[in-house]
Amino acid sequence: MQDKGAPRKVVVVGAGVVGLSTAWFLQEHGVEVVVVDRDDVAAGASWGNAGYLSPAFTAPLPEPAVLRYGLRALLDRDAPLHVPATVDPGLWAFLVGFARRCTPGAWKRAMRAYAEINGESLDAFDVLTDGGVEARTNAAPITAAFDDAKSLAALRHEFESMARVGQEVTVREAAPSDAGVPQLSSRIESVLRIEGQRFVDPGAFVCALARSVRERDGEVRSGFEVTVVHQDAGVSVESADGDLVAADAVVLATGAWLPRLAKPLGVRTRVQAGRGYSFTVPTDEPVPGPVYLPAARVACTPYRGGLRVAGTMEFRSPDASLDEARVEAIVRSARPLLTGVAWEERKDDWVGSRPVSADGLPVIGATRAPGVFVAGGHGMWGLTLGPWTGRMLGDQIVTGSRPARLRPFDPLR
Ligand SMILES: Cc1cc2nc3c(=O)[nH]c(=O)nc-3n(C[C@H](O)[C@H](O)[C@H](O)COP(=O)(O)OP(=O)(O)OC[C@H]3O[C@@H](n4cnc5c(N)ncnc54)[C@H](O)[C@@H]3O)c2cc1C
Repeated sequence: MQDKGAPRKVVVVGAGVVGLSTAWFLQEHGVEVVVVDRDDVAAGASWGNAGYLSPAFTAPLPEPAVLRYGLRALLDRDAPLHVPATVDPGLWAFLVGFARRCTPGAWKRAMRAYAEINGESLDAFDVLTDGGVEARTNAAPITAAFDDAKSLAALRHEFESMARVGQEVTVREAAPSDAGVPQLSSRIESVLRIEGQRFVDPGAFVCALARSVRERDGEVRSGFEVTVVHQDAGVSVESADGDLVAADAVVLATGAWLPRLAKPLGVRTRVQAGRGYSFTVPTDEPVPGPVYLPAARVACTPYRGGLRVAGTMEFRSPDASLDEARVEAIVRSARPLLTGVAWEERKDDWVGSRPVSADGLPVIGATRAPGVFVAGGHGMWGLTLGPWTGRMLGDQIVTGSRPARLRPFDPLR
C-alpha cells in the first residue's frame, strides 16, 4: 500500500543485489520500478562472491590490524591485500582516509552501527524467499580453520571486541577431526565453528530476485549505462546512447562505480573498488558448509557440487582486467590447508569489485539532489546486507522519513 505523496515510479540504477533488493521492496509498497544496468543482472560483485550470509563477520574493514597487515602486504606480491605500485591521486586519497579510520575508537563507533542492524539482515532474506523469490538460503555454521595459534587468537579477539559493543556471536572451538569438514588438511590445528550463519549461490539468488521483480510487473533493462542524472522537472536518467527514463525518484546502486554518479550529488565518502577473485574446483567429497581460512584470507563455499574459493583485496580500477597471478596466489595459499580438492581442474576464474568505503560503513539514503538516493559502499558484506538495505531504503523513499537505523549510513556524512 502506497503512502500519500510517495513516489509512484522509481528508477534503480544497478542490477546487483543492492539495486534489485531495493526495487523488490519498493514493489512491496506498490511502487512501479524500472531497474537499468549498463551490463546485465548480477554483472558486478554480486555474481562471483563467496556467498556467505554472515552477520557474525559483518564489521568495518578499517581496523588497526588491517593497517599493520596492509603495510606488510605492500611488500609481498603474493599477499591477499594488493595495492598497485603506481597509484592515482584518487586512490591515495582513499588510502589516506581509510588509514585514518584504522584506530580502535573509529572501529568501535562503526562496529556499533553494524551491531544494531546485523540481527536483521537474515530476516530480510526470509521476506524475499517467503515473498516469491525462488532461491534458497542454506543454514550452516562457518568453519574457520587455523594452522597457527596466532590467527586463532586474532579471530577470537575480533569476536570478543564485537561482543563488547553488543554483537553476540556463538562460536565453538572444535578439534579439526570433529568439525565435520572432510576437506581440512592435516595442517589444520584448530577450528572455530561460527554458528547461526547461512550461505547462498549468489548469482542464482540475484537472478531469482530479478525474475521476481519482473513477475511483479517491474522492468529490468540491461545494456543501459547511465551517464547523467537529470534533476529538472522530476528526475530522470540518461544513457550513453541518449535514452531517457523518467521517474519520481532515482536510486543509484552502482556498486564500486558509485562515485561516478554520486559524487556530484554531494556524496563525499570515498568508495573504492576492492577487487576480489574467485574460481570453482571439484572436490572428492561434498563440502558441508562454508570454510574460512583466516591466515590465507580465503573464503570457501559449497558451490554447484564443488567448492568456490574466493580471496584477495586488490585496490585497482573496477574496470581493470583479471590478473591471473592473483588467482594463482590464492591457489598457493589455500592448497596446503585443504585436501581432496582437484586444483588442476579449476574453472570459472572471476574478478569483481567490492565497493569499499573509506570509513567502513555503507552509504544508504538521500543525496543533496531531491529525489535521488544512493545505496552502496557495503564492501566485504554487500550480499549479506543487500536485502536489508533495500528494505530500509524502500521504507525511507516511500514514507519520506529515514529509519533511525539508517542514520550512521547517511550518504552526506
Ligand atoms: C571475491 C569477493 C567475495 C565476496 N564475498 C562476499 C560474501 O561472502 N558475503 C557478502 O555479504 N559479500 C561478499 N562480497 C561483497 C559483495 O559481493 C558486494 O558487496 C555486493 O555484491 C555489492 O553489491 P552491489 O549491488 O552494491 O554492487 P554490484 O553487484 O557490483 O552491482 C552494481 C551494478 O551496477 C552496474 N552499473 C555500474 N555503473 C552503472 C551505470 N553507470 N549505469 C548502469 N549500471 C551501472 C554494474 O554493471 C553492476 O551490475 C564479496 C565480494 C568479492 C569481490
